[in-house]
Amino acid sequence: MTDEVGKNISRVKYAYLDEQFSDVDQYFSDLREWVKTGEFTIGPYVEKFERKFADYIGVKHAVGTNTGTGALILSLKAAGVKPGDEVITVPNTFVATVGAIVAVGATPVFVDCDERYQIDVDKISSAVTLRTKAIVPVHWAGCPCDIDRVVEIATDNGLKVIEDACPAVGAKVRGRFVGTFGHVNAFSMHPLKPLNVWGDGGIVVTDDD
Ligand SMILES: *Cc1c(COP(=O)(O)O)cnc(C)c1O
Repeated sequence: MTDEVGKNISRVKYAYLDEQFSDVDQYFSDLREWVKTGEFTIGPYVEKFERKFADYIGVKHAVGTNTGTGALILSLKAAGVKPGDEVITVPNTFVATVGAIVAVGATPVFVDCDERYQIDVDKISSAVTLRTKAIVPVHWAGCPCDIDRVVEIATDNGLKVIEDACPAVGAKVRGRFVGTFGHVNAFSMHPLKPLNVWGDGGIVVTDDD
C-alpha cells in the first residue's frame, strides 16, 4: 500500500530542476569567471540581467529583488499603497500575494475566481469601496487572467493595477507578455517558476520612470 502510494506520488515530481540542470558545464564556466569579480549582489551582472529581462518582456525598467514576495511589496509601495487602503485580490493564490498587501499595512479584499481559477472580473466592481487603492490580479499557475478587463475596471475607478505575475514569466495575452499591463508588476524567480535563479529571486517591472 505504502509502496503503491509512494509510486503514484513520485509520478508528479515536486521539481524538475534535476532535469533542467542535467547539463551544468556552461553555468559553471560562467560562474568561474564571475566569482573572480566579487560582484555577488547588485552590480553589472544583475544590471545586465535586468536590462535583458526588461527588453524581453517589453517594458522600460526592471529591478531585481531578493524574492517575488519582495517584488510584490516594493510594487505596492511604489504604487502608493498605504496603511488603511484596501487592495482587491484573489483568495486562491500563494500566501505572498496577501502577505505583501498586509506587509504594507493595507487590507486585502477578496474576489473569488472564475472557472479558469483566475480572478472573476464580473465580481470586481462590487468589491470597490472609497478606500480601494489598487487591484492585484494574479496570473494563477502561470495562466493569464482577463487582464484587459481588470485594467478597464481599474481605470474606470481610478485604481492602480499591480500584476502578481510571479508564476507567469513568459505567459502572453494577445501576443503581449503578462506583467506589462499593470502600473508596476512583480515576477518571482524561485526555483519552481518558469525562469529561475539558483536560490530565491524576483523582479519588479514598470514603464513608469
Ligand atoms: C511564487 C509566487 C509568489 C512569491 O514568490 P517568491 O519568490 O516565492 O517570494 C507570489 N505570488 C504567486 C502567485 C506566486 O506563485
